[in-house]
Amino acid sequence: MTAAENERYSRQILFPGLGLEGQARIGRASACIVGCGALGSFQAEALVRAGIGHLRLIDRDYVDYTNLQRQWLYDESDAQNESPKAMAAARRLQQINSHVRIEPLVKDMTPSNAKEITSDIDIILDGTDNFETRYLINDLSVKSKRPWVYGAAVGSYGVVMPIVPGKGPCLACVYPEPPSGLQPTCDVNGVIAPVTATVAALQVAMAMRLIAGWDDFACFIHTMDIWQGTHKRVSAGEADAACRVCGKLEFRYLDGQKRTPVSLCGRNAVQLHENARPLDLQELATRLRPLGVVRVNEFALRLSVPKYDVTFFPDGRAIVKGTTDVGVARGVYAQLVGS
Ligand SMILES: [Zn+2]
Repeated sequence: MTAAENERYSRQILFPGLGLEGQARIGRASACIVGCGALGSFQAEALVRAGIGHLRLIDRDYVDYTNLQRQWLYDESDAQNESPKAMAAARRLQQINSHVRIEPLVKDMTPSNAKEITSDIDIILDGTDNFETRYLINDLSVKSKRPWVYGAAVGSYGVVMPIVPGKGPCLACVYPEPPSGLQPTCDVNGVIAPVTATVAALQVAMAMRLIAGWDDFACFIHTMDIWQGTHKRVSAGEADAACRVCGKLEFRYLDGQKRTPVSLCGRNAVQLHENARPLDLQELATRLRPLGVVRVNEFALRLSVPKYDVTFFPDGRAIVKGTTDVGVARGVYAQLVGS
């Protein structure tokens, strides 16, 4: 390391958990952040300030005004211009630390590009808002024996769990199946910035610890309610020999078998054939009424919001009108129903 680097990172080098060797490892490391919303934008800023060598950012979304309350790195001009989050984040990050190699990708992580996107990466941080992508990251992590750090937040509640293949359970050991039925989401239930910042900060601390080579890894699940001021840490136990991912080495999400089929329908609509997820339309109506105009009968529920018209069916299918972008349609479904 150069004298300028020693100076710049001196407070981090003084920290006994890192020292010169830990700092040098951070400088050689590469990380991938999947999703640049509230969690991912905080993780990116913290890792870039810490002097990570190479950072890849993946997000296909655009900045809007509702993001500014909790998403770091973005400002009013990004919302005004509807800048792609990955590009706006990269611009700001490069101003914060010009020595870091930052690679923004304006796309979704999918089974067809996931391996390529992460092939040269040491650690993955979860900044997503849906379980489909998390199980995909988990498949990748177990298959390539590389760590990732799961994190999620809604309301004032958050959860964090580091996953290190071979040293503890994977996500599928702890949550074998994605949650079913309606789930709380930030777009329906709200979220406050202190909880996303706390979850993201804890994810970055775990990542720095793993990068710095601490081998005393024990897997804990951290949960917190930032409004109540409570924080719990429970052991995640051992890896489950019967786990379909790390036990049986079945990578259904990476193989694309679990991807919700979609089809373009009409000139400006996407149909999501999510028929393994029955919906109670009356319950959904109560949940969605604060967001827009809801019309419901026993066969369908239609929600009209400024950008989209979304029609839900009792078997879980939905048609998102107002886009031909499959990623956008998936995102709208996850925001309204949960993931
Ligand atoms: Zn497992």
